[in-house]
Amino acid sequence: MARVYNFSAGPSMLPEQVLQSAAADMLDYQGSGQSVMEMSHRSKTFQAIIDAAEANLRKVMNIPDNYKVLFLQGGASTQFAMVPLNLMTKNGKADYIITGQWAKKAFKEATRYGDAKAIASSEDKTFSYIPRVTKDMVRPDADYVHICMNNTIYGTLYHDLPDTGDVPLVADISSCIMSEPIDVTKFAMLYAGAQKNLAPAGVTIVIIREDFLGNAQEMTPTMLNYVTHADNGSMFNTPPCWCIYICKLVLDWILETGGLEKRREINVQKAELLYNFLDNSKLFRGTVVAEDRSLMNVPFVTGNEELDAKFVKEATAAGFVNLKGHRSVGGMRASIYNAMPVEGVEKLVAFMKKFEEENA
Ligand SMILES: *Cc1c(COP(=O)(O)O)cnc(C)c1O
Repeated sequence: MARVYNFSAGPSMLPEQVLQSAAADMLDYQGSGQSVMEMSHRSKTFQAIIDAAEANLRKVMNIPDNYKVLFLQGGASTQFAMVPLNLMTKNGKADYIITGQWAKKAFKEATRYGDAKAIASSEDKTFSYIPRVTKDMVRPDADYVHICMNNTIYGTLYHDLPDTGDVPLVADISSCIMSEPIDVTKFAMLYAGAQKNLAPAGVTIVIIREDFLGNAQEMTPTMLNYVTHADNGSMFNTPPCWCIYICKLVLDWILETGGLEKRREINVQKAELLYNFLDNSKLFRGTVVAEDRSLMNVPFVTGNEELDAKFVKEATAAGFVNLKGHRSVGGMRASIYNAMPVEGVEKLVAFMKKFEEENA
């Protein structure tokens, strides 16, 4: 069996150990005589799985007791509406920092439900940096400031959080969740679609401080109210059982391999391999300013579209797949999430060196 190195931005690679456990459990999960895909979400067996997934998540991310952890559906994109519906409710205002397409979509959705304002943007330079935001740029009566912590398409990351004064911070962490430690107490709420670094597509993680629950706008649909899910242990309706089960296995793997400190160490190592090569290459270059570079998504170009296409084609044939950049920006992007081994990045760099020599 030949597994490729999959550099997809999402859905993306899962740890082999997780795939093997899932395969072994496929027909008979721990003597239950059925797959997790088939069993009732109201069964004791599944309750143990979702409880373990939540306990693992709390442990790995060091989530305090006054935060709820929810397993929802609808992807991060549904959060673009749920956040304002549930949190833009004291003064009906929220401030957004525009660092890419996801941040922009979140902002646009929020404008439907109240006075959402874009207070900074890096669109002037194709989102190749994180705009610096100071306290005086934030409306003091905004209900929250929304950021997209890691910009999957453009490859930028907040290495430091903006100072928003007393205004609570909400972050989309879809593509950096579990990549390094994060101080949950700095946020009113965090959310992440799981398919980048945590599980297959289909489950969205929400981590919300309890005092931000219970103030949803009157028109909020039941399913879009966080209280509905918080009060029902994420089982108001049928949850994405299979995804939650895989999520639990991925978190087991993170715990067994040293937690988020170790993840950061390995992720920095992988990212440096690639960035160091790009910085010294005569053919390739990274597209993001050095201080805001993502650990997870590394966009790069040759400066020549034909050569970019040739590179993607030859890389695919060599077993390095999904390196084509997002359709909106072109070029290349290597997404190197947790499950990408160091060896995969080393081999990619060796391949890029060879391509550079052949095409110089
Ligand atoms: C992928 C992604 C999304 C969209 O996630 P869906 O689950 O497809 O809705 C939103 N934000 C970020 C940062 C992402 O990387």
